Amino acid sequence: MPELPEVETIRRDLAPRVVGRRFTAVEVMPGAEKVVALPSPAEFTRALPGLRIEGIERRGKYLLFPLSDGRYLIVHLRMTGALIHRPAGTPAESYLRIRLVLDNKTELRYTDLRKLGMMWLVDDPTLVVGKLGPDALEALQPTTLRSLLEGRRAPVKAVLMDQTRLAGLGNIYADEALFLAGVLPRRPAGSLTRGEVERLHDAVGKVLREAMGHRGSSFRDYVDGEGKEGEHQLHVRVYRRSGEPCYVCGTTIERVKLGGRSSHFCPHCQE
Ligand SMILES: [Zn+2]
Repeated sequence: MPELPEVETIRRDLAPRVVGRRFTAVEVMPGAEKVVALPSPAEFTRALPGLRIEGIERRGKYLLFPLSDGRYLIVHLRMTGALIHRPAGTPAESYLRIRLVLDNKTELRYTDLRKLGMMWLVDDPTLVVGKLGPDALEALQPTTLRSLLEGRRAPVKAVLMDQTRLAGLGNIYADEALFLAGVLPRRPAGSLTRGEVERLHDAVGKVLREAMGHRGSSFRDYVDGEGKEGEHQLHVRVYRRSGEPCYVCGTTIERVKLGGRSSHFCPHCQE
């Protein structure tokens, strides 16, 4: 599932290619109507042509395209969504769901195996992204993180992944950051010492920047704005490495279910 580094990679790929371009046509493929959350697919298809893309912003795992009429096109890729820029006329990707035709003989193509992703065209973006916590890359200070965790009995990993408290981290980077910080995922959030919170803050920034340096993690479906896979899956320290030796101490990496999600950790390096 694309998390902050993947969505930011897509944002950086697409910005020089599509900002300043106008939509000329929109095609929602049959069966993909539910991807358009708001307005109706018919209104969505009617409203976009003629509008110019003024920029691309990111909030957590959401991409926001401010448009020339003041509205916003917002995209959330969820599990298997991708947003790929292609010359018009190139063969359609498998699972092409929405085609956004641009005025320079190119297209922004939304592909999605499972059709769980969503798009909105709204006047006010806070309708969609207003409940998000501070961005894990742009807005996370040690003091912010401390106040997020303080007094909470929920596992620290659950708090890190709660998008209303901190926006951008999912299962991969929460596991990776907790490993770097030396903190077990199941620890009650409020039990972290001041030093551990500072280490965790540094670790979150480090894993996100590393992953962006590798253009994201492609464990399954993720591709960047050109349709290419990322490489960070080759560099993870614990995620999906259960049964393999820890790179630091050699202890076997373990996996537990925590809140329905798999958590990967080193029982020696993390406490
Ligand atoms: Zn270890």
